[in-house]
Amino acid sequence: MGMKLVHTDLSGFQDVLEHKQAELIQVLRVRDDITIEKSADQMDEIQYASERDLAIRSVDRDSSLLREVRAALRRFRDGSFGSCIECDSAISPKRLAAIPWASRCIKCQDASDQDRHASLESFAENLENYG
Ligand SMILES: [Zn+2]
Repeated sequence: MGMKLVHTDLSGFQDVLEHKQAELIQVLRVRDDITIEKSADQMDEIQYASERDLAIRSVDRDSSLLREVRAALRRFRDGSFGSCIECDSAISPKRLAAIPWASRCIKCQDASDQDRHASLESFAENLENYG
């Protein structure tokens, strides 16, 4: 039997991701139940609206996290887990330990964050020029 040395150090992340996926599905399901319960109560409309708003916002956050976790599990299946989706270089184990569902290496993540800032800044500059 040959030794499988390639990617053995990554296999632990699959468990972490599967646990995270199960946890998020559970959290999202429980929060659904709470929202339904609360709407049955005679709650102050404004308070209800703001609580619902908060709940929706955290559902949004957890749903997009769940999407990222699922995408990472898909990358596990097709063998691309641990590689940056932009430049194909290996994502550092340190980064994966902190964010197992990270899809970009730190360089590409920084670049994409800066791109977003830059486009916002040039948008603001354009507004100034036209204002
Ligand atoms: Zn990269």
